[in-house]
Amino acid sequence: MDASSKGKNRRRGKKRRKASNNQPLEASVDASEQTPSSSVSVSKRRKLGGATSTSSGGNKSTSFLDKMRARLSGGHFRMLNEKLYTCSGKDAFDYFKEDPELFSVYHTGYREQMSHWPEQPVNIIIKWLKSRNTSLTVADFGCGDAKLAKSVKNKVFSIDLVSKDPSVIACDMSQTPLESSSVDVAVFCLSLMGTNYPSYITEANRVLKPGGWLLIAEVKSRFDPNNGGADPEKFSEAVKNLGFSLVSKDMNNKMFILFYFRKKERSVSDRNISWPGLKPCIYKRR
Ligand code: SAH
Repeated sequence: MDASSKGKNRRRGKKRRKASNNQPLEASVDASEQTPSSSVSVSKRRKLGGATSTSSGGNKSTSFLDKMRARLSGGHFRMLNEKLYTCSGKDAFDYFKEDPELFSVYHTGYREQMSHWPEQPVNIIIKWLKSRNTSLTVADFGCGDAKLAKSVKNKVFSIDLVSKDPSVIACDMSQTPLESSSVDVAVFCLSLMGTNYPSYITEANRVLKPGGWLLIAEVKSRFDPNNGGADPEKFSEAVKNLGFSLVSKDMNNKMFILFYFRKKERSVSDRNISWPGLKPCIYKRR
């Protein structure tokens, strides 16, 4: 891209931002332009090479510095996002263990990005749970800020790589401390990120009671075979071979696909399941 077209693109920033609403987690938009700089710690900004806001210079330069900081933190979010989609759960766990602050950087960017979605899949799952008995025990695999647990009366085991809240179990979700056959509902809401994602679903199978539910919401483009994504039929087939039946599949939402599986009462897993690769949701670099 030459310098003049770069300039044009910059001027077209607004237009591109709008287009991002159709491109979840793969946005052509620079999320950093919209990420509030205040949510990134000063030490983190220094690490990223940004200046602090204590420098003088009036409103104009402060807002310039804020923009630069936001750009840096957005870039950092994109880097972390790519990391999570291209490494194993174990590597992701070790990575965040070394610097748990990165988890906050990731989630600030994640929240910003999700604020552009007309509907959040976690809210649909919350609605689904609220329409059922509160005695159902839930495991939320890759819970993020644990919104699900905070929104329902059910007992929820919230699991993620880092625990920012005492109620969250910090682990790689391919190996949780949950007991076998102990939960009624296993949820993966936009969390099948690691390259070893089948081991997360296998772990959910272990902790689910017979007849338990497996709810999976994923970014739609990951299931678009015409665009390098997985064939949803092949994915469902793999989960079925693990011992589930597909109760329904919701393709109505523009941004995500939602699968409702149920574990068979007497499940016998196939040993050689062919899992399709799930395309990483990576931001375009600029
Ligand atoms: N389910 C939440 C958050 C989605 S973001 C929501 O819908 O709002 C995806 C989350 O999955 C991130 O918090 C990430 O840390 C977590 N995650 C990804 N791989 C993981 C793994 N191997 N073990 C535990 N959590 C994981």
